[in-house]
Amino acid sequence: MDHFHYVNGVYHAEDVALDALAAQVGTPFYCYSTATLTRHYKVFSGHFSDMDAKICFAVKANSNLGVLNTLSKLGCGADVVSEGEIRLAMAAGIKPSDIVFSGVGKTASEMAYALDHNIFQFNVESEPELELLNDVALSKNTKARIAVRVNPDVDPRTHAKISTGQKESKFGIAMPNALPVYRYASSLRGIDVQGVSVHIGSQLTNLEPFAQAFARVRAFVGELRAEGCTIKTLDLGGGLGIPYGQEEPPMPDVYAEIAKREMKDLGCTLMFEPGRVLVGNAGILVSRVVYVKKSTNRLFVIVDAAMNDLIRPTLYGAYHDIVPVIAPSGNASTELVDVVGPVCETGDIFAEQRLLKVPAAGDLMVFRSAGAYGAVMSGTYNARPLIAEVMVNGGKSAIVRPRQTYEDLVGRDVIPQWD
Ligand SMILES: *Cc1c(COP(=O)(O)O)cnc(C)c1O
Repeated sequence: MDHFHYVNGVYHAEDVALDALAAQVGTPFYCYSTATLTRHYKVFSGHFSDMDAKICFAVKANSNLGVLNTLSKLGCGADVVSEGEIRLAMAAGIKPSDIVFSGVGKTASEMAYALDHNIFQFNVESEPELELLNDVALSKNTKARIAVRVNPDVDPRTHAKISTGQKESKFGIAMPNALPVYRYASSLRGIDVQGVSVHIGSQLTNLEPFAQAFARVRAFVGELRAEGCTIKTLDLGGGLGIPYGQEEPPMPDVYAEIAKREMKDLGCTLMFEPGRVLVGNAGILVSRVVYVKKSTNRLFVIVDAAMNDLIRPTLYGAYHDIVPVIAPSGNASTELVDVVGPVCETGDIFAEQRLLKVPAAGDLMVFRSAGAYGAVMSGTYNARPLIAEVMVNGGKSAIVRPRQTYEDLVGRDVIPQWD
């Protein structure tokens, strides 16, 4: 459920008309709905309110400070994958004691920064990482609280580029090898072993892989405890899918039920790292049609947003619903069109052979479900400035990231002075 809808034929974000907002901030822009974000967080966290649980939003899905601060005020923590994300989370008001640090390539300086701020947990993904973390902690006369990220070798049945829990993936430590790593970790003076973590992939639309992974983690906790290892936290990762089109992902209540069924009686703090499910449908991308171009056998709708602003269709073949801001009249013609951006790449396509009411140049179009892995993955390819991000709250709107200026874009480079 989201708060983007038509009011008298004009698409609104909550109570804000998007044609008026576009006139004010220019196009293209991202627009996030506070009410949707709040609702999604409350629905997700509500299922765990009867137990000791920590919800740590995966900052990589949307790291805008306005979004992070909204979640922070609701009591949400952060799952981060870089020092930059730690800094953003803290700048948004998230306490270090609610921050968990994931990722396969944490550097010594990132570890030092995280230790200096006493974050809640490092999810360690390899033995060399464990050794480096131990060294950095010892050099600071402190201990790093860790979980080992295990790889349960289950097929999440999602897109290959967002699958992480199979043995061919770079993530985590294969379960058969994880036990010796725990033994080793327990012997290190700079390491405080406190938990187990797992994350098998993103945009899962089926519960079975979660159930399998959680059951394997549960069995593994038994093995660890039998060895005398203290396990206090279980981080079950993120990955719950959202409806972009026709998918019917599991509802959070069923997901929660499975997590609780497997983990509730283990006496641990349960941690979750939802990203997409909180923000995906809380954001849209608003764009304007520049041209409608007829070629021999295609009708191209060329919009002012491009793959550098929203790369998901190009990168994953992802589907985004496309709706016009001004509802077309009933007799507008419907045709198969290709919706494309201006970037000089054949892959710069938002939708191929999509049945749409044919828009005219100047019309505004909305790409729905763009709140996760949208703005965060954007770049300036083709020297296109980073676009604006706007948040609405009821009838109010706020620019939460101004559009990048051309001065800034051109000013980033330095011409070398050789002589
Ligand atoms: C990407 C990621 C998440 C969030 O995944 P979503 O599918 O957005 O919920 C959580 N944990 C880790 C370790 C991740 O890499």
